[in-house]
Amino acid sequence: MAEDVVTTPEAEETEESRDPYDRLVVRAGLADYSPVRGCMVIREYGYAVWELIQNWIDGELKATGHKNAYFPIFIPLSFIAKEAEHVEGFAPQLAVVTHGGGEELTEPLVVRPTSETIIYDMYRKWIQSYRDLPLLLNQWANVVRWEIRTRPFLRTMEFLWQEGHTAHASAAEADAEARLILDLYIRFIEGELAIPVMSGRKSESEKFAGADITYTMEAMMQDGKALQMGTSHNLGQNFGRAFDVWFLDRDGERKNPWSTSWAVTTRLIGAIVLVHGDAKGLILPPRIAPIQAVIVPIWRDDEQRAAVETYVAGIAADLAAGGIRVEIDDRDTVRPGFKFNEWELKGVPLRLEVGPRDVEAGQAVAARRDTGTKESTPRSELVARSGALLEEIQQQLYARALTFLHENTHEAGSLEDLARGLEEQRGFYRVNWCEGQGCERAFAREKATVRVIPFGEESEPNGPCIVCGEPARARVVVARSY
Ligand SMILES: [Zn+2]
Repeated sequence: MAEDVVTTPEAEETEESRDPYDRLVVRAGLADYSPVRGCMVIREYGYAVWELIQNWIDGELKATGHKNAYFPIFIPLSFIAKEAEHVEGFAPQLAVVTHGGGEELTEPLVVRPTSETIIYDMYRKWIQSYRDLPLLLNQWANVVRWEIRTRPFLRTMEFLWQEGHTAHASAAEADAEARLILDLYIRFIEGELAIPVMSGRKSESEKFAGADITYTMEAMMQDGKALQMGTSHNLGQNFGRAFDVWFLDRDGERKNPWSTSWAVTTRLIGAIVLVHGDAKGLILPPRIAPIQAVIVPIWRDDEQRAAVETYVAGIAADLAAGGIRVEIDDRDTVRPGFKFNEWELKGVPLRLEVGPRDVEAGQAVAARRDTGTKESTPRSELVARSGALLEEIQQQLYARALTFLHENTHEAGSLEDLARGLEEQRGFYRVNWCEGQGCERAFAREKATVRVIPFGEESEPNGPCIVCGEPARARVVVARSY
């Protein structure tokens, strides 16, 4: 896939002018371009995937004691400036409202790029005592960042996300929270999206503006590039201090709370496309597929049609009762072959074909989207067999992606190795690094970044820094990225 395609309405985009990813997103009905540069319309099929993402994450957040709230989209410009690193990090991306109701505003308003600042302004009011802690809030919202280079789902000016913002009475509690959420995200991305990730922390220069530690999950796309799947930040006392939030602790001392923030976004939908897609189109992991099984009735004349349709309605009811998200494609304006192609393009994991002979035999033909294999199954076993096939597809997609990740993760013993590797062999490179920013810039000259410093033994250095030759502090993952 070509990198960094700039999408502008002026470019008069045609189907052919976009790269395969952009084209697939549109053709599969996940999203469409908007009249506003850099924004996208999430279509009903893509939004249904987002709703499944929301359902799972929202359920798990509530089960771990988090509650949803909603904060305003407009933030006074002065708020952004209160945390020094934060303003530096976000200033170039801000959309600022200067006029409203036909008049110039006395203070410009920022369209939220993230909500820490407005939330901490409220926390100052809400947090007085250790009894008010921990405060575990989440918000489902849209945010705006003025991006120059945009691509549907991967990077857009406006995107949807959940942002969690918690405050705690100790540094240890805040760090445990940031790690808890990282683990929750990993369970979701590996278990539901069938995408293996490498997790750990970001380097100083790659961490969130205003965070002490940024924890991250990085996945490998089929072109070998990394995609950051989500982040969880331990903010220390930085925002509590900047926004003058104080609480009276058990020991009688006044302290700033320790806090966290964390998010995953509609970018996850782009990751599903890039990790699981093939030449025919999308392949949606069953657990996140809005339609898990599509039934295509096949007939020649009206007599056959009546029999097939009655039979198919019965099968669909059985599958739905068995908890499978099923749809019948009963259009009589297109042929079955056209329907097969279309559902393959849209990545529906299981297709059930039913013709007059299947009705007579009391069966259906099940076709897997991932392997293309077909099998006939008696109606009495269809619900159980479909459920088992969906589970197999889910596992198979994860296993395939994990093998790909392992096969394309390499070692680089020197900067020359790394440079040559990045040019000749797609993938991630494990390298020893001193954690010095000067050496990090050497990676940047190869158009790569430190994606993640893995947890535990995985980041134990086994040699000197590949750039400066000084003792390494960590063995890290370097790659090109989206
Ligand atoms: Zn170095």
